Amino acid sequence: MTIKTIDRSLAAITKQVATKLSQVKTLEDIYAVRSEFTGKTSVLTQLLQSLKDVPTEDRPTIGAKVNQAKKEIESIIERALSLMMNRESLLKDEVRDIDVSAPFHTNNSKIPDFTGIGSMHPLQYEINRMLDIFTTMGFTPFEGRELETDYYVFDSLNMPKEHPARQNWDTFRTEDNLIPTPHTSNMQVRVMRHLKAAPLRAVIYGRCSRNEAVDAVHGHTFYQIEGLYIDKGVSISNMIGTISAFVNAFFDKNVTSKIQPGYFPFVEPGIEYLGQCPFCDGKGCSSCKHTGWLELVGAGMIHPNVLREGGFDPAVYSGFAWGLGLDRMVMQRNGIQDIRSLFASDIRFLQSSL
Ligand SMILES: [Zn+2]
Repeated sequence: MTIKTIDRSLAAITKQVATKLSQVKTLEDIYAVRSEFTGKTSVLTQLLQSLKDVPTEDRPTIGAKVNQAKKEIESIIERALSLMMNRESLLKDEVRDIDVSAPFHTNNSKIPDFTGIGSMHPLQYEINRMLDIFTTMGFTPFEGRELETDYYVFDSLNMPKEHPARQNWDTFRTEDNLIPTPHTSNMQVRVMRHLKAAPLRAVIYGRCSRNEAVDAVHGHTFYQIEGLYIDKGVSISNMIGTISAFVNAFFDKNVTSKIQPGYFPFVEPGIEYLGQCPFCDGKGCSSCKHTGWLELVGAGMIHPNVLREGGFDPAVYSGFAWGLGLDRMVMQRNGIQDIRSLFASDIRFLQSSL
């Protein structure tokens, strides 16, 4: 081996590597090429070992050339390996036949299978419980509407165009001027016109929206449950008795209560029904903001204008309506701190909640 012949020998070896790599079909084929040309018994290693027979003055030059060629060959082989790995993984994906609609863990072997059968969402669970309570009291359940017209959201509820109480509801509007309803009271006149006759007992549940900034205790989307009772000679004491029966059944204990005046344009008079905090028995805790009382239900005797809109003569019939925010009650009953958990679809929350 001399300086004159080394270039030719190295070029021949590099060409052989390229030829062999152009014929490989699997990763194993490439590993074989690598071992043949850069392994311990390879031509290149033999070349390096035979440097001792080269004249001393030529050794550095020839040694550098052999090392340079070895590096180039190694890098060609590495490139071939990485191309082949990509190709094989694409082929494997094709064969794996991924079901894109499957639960997320199905296609990822690193996530263990869920063995549970799933659980009901806390909101749905409490809606069912509340509807059960009202059904046993003789009320018929109705699901509310999510998109509503001005008439049912405001006008039919004693809030004509210029009424200042309209501003109490920061509503969204669609391009068609429909309103994602801000309360379930939009169903009051609809239900009255649907059922027509007294005694009328209806409970309405539904999703509502308000133009609220979202934080731990406010959401732009929430659920309400609302009830209507209309008959001859219905009094405010009937209303308080009905609400108390519901609250006691919901919290599964006799909840001490009090009422205070409240304003809602579609009732007269209006009240707020407060229950002694069932979590601390009135001593004060974070659920009741240390006041000992929880505002549980807004209610009142149905305004004569609303009865009239629904087709009931207020000279003959009277009735009451009440409504409550479901999310707040679900949070209180289940010790949930952040209202956003109810909408976040976090599997850890959903699995631990009920
Ligand atoms: Zn409390």
